[in-house]
Amino acid sequence: MLSGTTRCGLRPSRRAARMGMMSRMTERAEVVIIGGGVVGASVAYHLAEAGCRDVLVVERGRQLGEGSTGRATGGVRAQFATPVNIRMSLYSIDFFSRFHEATGRDCGYQPVGYLFLAAHARQLAQLESNRVRQTAAGLTCVEILSTDEIAARLPLVRLDDIAGGSFCPIDGLIDPLAVMHGLWERASERGARLWTDTRVTGIEVEGGAVARVDTSRGRVSTRAVVNAAGAWAAEVARLAGVEIPVTPLRRQLVGTEPFDGLPARMPMVIDLSDGFHFRRVESEGQAPGVRLAWPDPEERPGFNTDFDESFAGKVLERAARRVPAFAGLKVDRALCRAGLYEMTPDHHAIIGRAPGVAGLYLANGFSGHGVMHSPATGRAVSDLILHGESRTIDITRLRAERFAEGGLIEEPVLL
Ligand SMILES: Cc1cc2nc3c(=O)[nH]c(=O)nc-3n(C[C@H](O)[C@H](O)[C@H](O)COP(=O)(O)OP(=O)(O)OC[C@H]3O[C@@H](n4cnc5c(N)ncnc54)[C@H](O)[C@@H]3O)c2cc1C
Repeated sequence: MLSGTTRCGLRPSRRAARMGMMSRMTERAEVVIIGGGVVGASVAYHLAEAGCRDVLVVERGRQLGEGSTGRATGGVRAQFATPVNIRMSLYSIDFFSRFHEATGRDCGYQPVGYLFLAAHARQLAQLESNRVRQTAAGLTCVEILSTDEIAARLPLVRLDDIAGGSFCPIDGLIDPLAVMHGLWERASERGARLWTDTRVTGIEVEGGAVARVDTSRGRVSTRAVVNAAGAWAAEVARLAGVEIPVTPLRRQLVGTEPFDGLPARMPMVIDLSDGFHFRRVESEGQAPGVRLAWPDPEERPGFNTDFDESFAGKVLERAARRVPAFAGLKVDRALCRAGLYEMTPDHHAIIGRAPGVAGLYLANGFSGHGVMHSPATGRAVSDLILHGESRTIDITRLRAERFAEGGLIEEPVLL
């Protein structure tokens, strides 16, 4: 422990120290994390691993993972087009591949690959140009495939209207809740605490710095707060007077009854003509089923998480068009669900210090990639809190100020 610092090495303000002495009833924590999803769990894990164990996660739900984390598909890919997303993925995929060593638990990482199907020459050229950027960012295993090569790997897929594709063998699947629990349980073993059924109602700022967090269970005195509130991040930031452009957008998934004709190792398949994608899902004691998804362009921002029955028909139609053998596939209603993406205007996360409020950190706006990028995010935020800078991944481009400064980041493949 450094002299004049707290156990995490954070320097306490005189006022905070005075407040702590004055009010023994007020709870204290070095770091308060708002939101008990995969991102909050990852920040807690990385802080705890770095020796900062006085961490409190505050979650309004009855248990961890009740937000978007428990609704996610479980895809992980490095096939992005921007250096920052590719590097976030490379860090995270490496972490998933040694998850057991890092946490003592499994996260269900299966490197079955992501196969992107380009509908025309322009999309194929985009995949080729992405590959150049991916190679430059250190992802060197992406293959551009002809339709014959795709047919040889995945004969199920109809390819007469496809120009080619790209495949990355380290992309694949993870179990979102297993990732979250693995990270959280290790953080908890190291001393991190969790308050469930507790809503954060205020973030008190004094002299431009975070001083306390108000919750439905009482006050917590702290100097570092992490906003890990997923689709609700904008309202949490507003508690400290900070505006961030994060909007909720419903995404729906359709699960099917078992289907016999799936290959044992099937990639996540993405049809770039309309964003329709599907993956294999194991089910105990029977043939695997399929999980189907499609970003409905009619969807409007909002907090609705009801599954819309008419969505299943729309997605099945797309499924049968791309995979003729899927015609007549039966929906298993129990496997259908909806949840929220946390969108930003450029579909990139916001990670960094909150503008104008010292001690408030943002880990928000993942635009549908929060599970796959949770390890990199946890590491970057932990570094920022403990060392004042991100030491592994350059997250400068993800700072919140980019929206006001006109520094938006272009990501052509939106899913
Ligand atoms: C259908 C669907 C499919 C997806 N598929 C994938 C995928 O394949 N791969 C991938 O990487 N990502 C995917 N995502 C996105 C992913 O789920 C999210 O990006 C990720 O879960 C975000 O994690 P989080 O911890 O930030 O948010 P959440 O898991 O939403 O956690 C935020 C938590 O904050 C809590 N909270 C909010 N406000 C307060 C408050 N005031 N006080 C206390 N607690 C509060 C909420 O209750 C919530 O539990 C998918 C999402 C959906 C909906």
